[in-house]
Amino acid sequence: MKEQKGLAFNRLAALTDEPLLKLDTKKLMPLPYLDAEPPVKPPPESWLEKYDLSLDWHSPVGVPKPKTEQEKAELVRRFLSGLGKLFDPQNNWTFLKILRLTTDYCMRCQTCSEACHVFVASGHQEIYRPTYRSEILRRLYRQYFTPSGKLLKSLVGADIELNYKLVIRLMEVSYRCNVCRRCAQVCPVGIDNGLIAREIRKLFSQEMGIAPKELYAKGTRQHLKVGSSTGMSVGGFKEAIEFIEEDIGDRTGRKIKIPVDKKGADILLIHNAGEYLSWPENPGAFAVLFDAAGIDYTLSSEPVGYDGVNYGLFCDDVELARIGLRHVQIAKKLGVRKIVVGECGHATKTLCVITDRVFPGDLSISEIPRESCLPLFWEIVKSGVIKLDPSRNNFPTTLHDSCNIARLMGIVMPQRNVVKAICPQFREMTPNGARNYCCGGGSGFAIMNELNFPQWRKKVSERMKTKQILEAFRDCLDPSQPKYVIAACSNCKGAMRDLIGHYGLWDKYRITYGGLVELIVNAMADLPKPFIELEFISNE
Ligand code: SF4
Ligand code: SF4
Repeated sequence: MKEQKGLAFNRLAALTDEPLLKLDTKKLMPLPYLDAEPPVKPPPESWLEKYDLSLDWHSPVGVPKPKTEQEKAELVRRFLSGLGKLFDPQNNWTFLKILRLTTDYCMRCQTCSEACHVFVASGHQEIYRPTYRSEILRRLYRQYFTPSGKLLKSLVGADIELNYKLVIRLMEVSYRCNVCRRCAQVCPVGIDNGLIAREIRKLFSQEMGIAPKELYAKGTRQHLKVGSSTGMSVGGFKEAIEFIEEDIGDRTGRKIKIPVDKKGADILLIHNAGEYLSWPENPGAFAVLFDAAGIDYTLSSEPVGYDGVNYGLFCDDVELARIGLRHVQIAKKLGVRKIVVGECGHATKTLCVITDRVFPGDLSISEIPRESCLPLFWEIVKSGVIKLDPSRNNFPTTLHDSCNIARLMGIVMPQRNVVKAICPQFREMTPNGARNYCCGGGSGFAIMNELNFPQWRKKVSERMKTKQILEAFRDCLDPSQPKYVIAACSNCKGAMRDLIGHYGLWDKYRITYGGLVELIVNAMADLPKPFIELEFISNE
């Protein structure tokens, strides 16, 4: 690859604390229907003294500045050790083939760049270009691990300076990608730059113990130790279920007992445990719908079994396997026919696609089927077993597709069929379905709140989704009319809450968000009052 105009690859190794990029709202992609937005705030001096923020003055991790030459050398040594393992079949049998395809065959056509919402929304900043981090990884690998690279360096595209600054900046830039794989979708040779970002993160997590704490210490570690990445214990889960049963009574007048640990049920339903804390009406709506439709299901109260989250997906194969294994083992122990994953994109991808790659034999998907809840919703709606009244949802709606569900798994029509059946004022956002843009919270960004990373997320990665939502509702922006963005994914809902709050979309235009199952229950003709309230509760 030629040096990209405006930023040479070797600048990643610049021995300076000056950031390679300072975000400026004037240079970001313009947003329609908004007059002004909060400016980008620089980090406080105390952070600049303590942490290396020299990529773009933001960080979801906060790597402390190494103090001695020995510490700097150690960072480089461990990085090189991890890089070697990434390309070693014994150490990376899970993703090595795809990684090699991606490092070996890029044609440098840059078709992928315009598909990337981060690159475009940032105002085409070179360090966020999909191929940027991939090219650095490719050059480093060639230089240090191939005979031609060691000998011929620049002649074979293997000339890049490696020092501790490059190591830290490369880690940071791997967390400026949502791993949404929209770039891979348009690449003429199927190269997956999202996978490269994820593999770089894996190197740092598995080899160097560097990962955002929401994904590792307070993510997978807490999940395995306490039972849930939210920190919710088994007792907390049981209390949440009692609360939801009471809430269902208040909203519907129905007394519903939510089944927990029912042996031999048809379905083990696993929610993202974030729903119990932030959006308890979502598991509540599942309970109402499944009860009305006569679905034989159960939840699990086993540690890990009541939380479908698997943050290993975003940065660590070992942690991914540990959590995925527990999910599948719990289903086996309960003797259910299949696992159905609630409204959570990454949990669906992990259980239905990735763990099938990781677990062979009697833990594979052919032995323990796993599927998204969305086709089941459509089966229920289509069957006519529940009387639905679309006029109860007579307000403008649009649909955000989770990348993991729509793009990766190809589940596009079931949710649309449901929405078209129950929402008379539905309109698509553009583009949509498998070509939809990420919400900006993908690959864990929605929950990563260290230092000033939320500012970067709101300004850059959530920007394209903000634009899409405003454009979808452009004919009905009048604030007297509430509007609803459907997001059948817990992490996507986190991003919606974030961007709606930051850009003031509720205050200005009465735009709010929520899940899909709540809308189905809202349309149930025999409920005495609406199930949902069109309101917006900020997390700020
Ligand atoms: S995976 Fe998504 S965010 Fe990452 S480079 Fe590709 S398009 Fe951009
Ligand atoms: S579209 Fe594919 S081949 Fe072209 S630059 Fe991007 S990754 Fe490389």
